Amino acid sequence: MKGFEYLQEELDQMKEQGTFRKLVPLESEQGSKVVIDGREVIQLSSNNYLGLTSHPRLRKAAIEATEKYGAGTGSVRTIAGTFSMHEELERNLAKFKHTEASLVFQSGFTTNQGVLSSILTSEDVVISDALNHASIIDGIRLTKAARKVYKHVDMEDLERALKECSDYRVRLIVTDGVFSMDGNIAPLPQIVELAEKYDALIMVDDAHASGVLGENGRGTVNHFGLDGRVHIQVGTLSKAIGVLGGYVASTQTLIDYLIHKGRPFLFSTSHPPAVTAACIEAINVLLEEPELIEKLWDNAKFFKDGLTKLGFDTGKSETPVTPVIVGDEKKCHQFSDKLLEYGVFAQGIAFPTVSKGQARVRTIVTAQHSKEELQEALNLFEKAAKELNIL
Ligand SMILES: *Cc1c(COP(=O)(O)O)cnc(C)c1O
Repeated sequence: MKGFEYLQEELDQMKEQGTFRKLVPLESEQGSKVVIDGREVIQLSSNNYLGLTSHPRLRKAAIEATEKYGAGTGSVRTIAGTFSMHEELERNLAKFKHTEASLVFQSGFTTNQGVLSSILTSEDVVISDALNHASIIDGIRLTKAARKVYKHVDMEDLERALKECSDYRVRLIVTDGVFSMDGNIAPLPQIVELAEKYDALIMVDDAHASGVLGENGRGTVNHFGLDGRVHIQVGTLSKAIGVLGGYVASTQTLIDYLIHKGRPFLFSTSHPPAVTAACIEAINVLLEEPELIEKLWDNAKFFKDGLTKLGFDTGKSETPVTPVIVGDEKKCHQFSDKLLEYGVFAQGIAFPTVSKGQARVRTIVTAQHSKEELQEALNLFEKAAKELNIL
């Protein structure tokens, strides 16, 4: 069909530059090993930190909810699509996060969009870390608020921005709790101090910290002992929680406001029973099986130490998100392809997800990996990197 030549041209350029990527379909369930192209390979690219995507208790909850309540909900939350289980999940999430209330959105992405777009006006300013997630950036694009970006985790630069913003009605500082491409943790104690000094609100996106950091995986706010001092906590139910969805945990006032103004919440159908029931069970698992998080951190340490000993550059990672920084985009994708050929699925991540010249193979180990699998992956990283002169 004619009409898309201008898009094809750009795609052809990407092919020339070696940055055109195909989707990689899995032929098995998610796990420490997955089947790709008929071959079993070690999975190091998922966000399935605790292995909950296939946890027997979540599977069972999803099946039972489907049998009892069906496959879908038939409406948006605000018309006829709120089931009692949706509210049960929200009560449990609020309790888990030590906040007054919580509200579930269709995804972490729409949570950030919905929250930022509804609570800020042209009288306000949003102050954002330079490496915040795309969903935060898009949420900010949807507001009429003034925008300031501070240098990544640079507290002097954040203070400079705050000093310039005294005239606005609301100053909202937004940061990822754990940065998804580097695995470093936001300096929340300092951010809270500055926010209190300059009378600002704080919003933390704990997508990569929920189920990973803090007591039973409560996230970065709890990890730093800052319960009650961060105004808005966003989390996802799609990463360590293993299912799908996003949520905001905060005051009853904010939640009531979002029920009336959060556009993805108002105009998009609620989660099916299987999703909601599995999320409820996932929070129970976090509370009742803390050994999963211990295993995750033990594995993360083992793998990170192994990479460092081999001489790889793993950047500033402090969490199970461990980048292996290659730099050049094309080489990075070659490295990833070679790893897959040898039996390790570790995706290359390049511009625009990370800056130009900062391409990396990003790894996330899970609680499901055995030490043998991780050691085998390390051996194959060494072999592939030597062949490509990365080490
Ligand atoms: C993955 C991610 C999201 C999006 O979450 P989904 O539930 O997958 O939509 C939002 N913020 C951050 C920081 C993320 O890493």
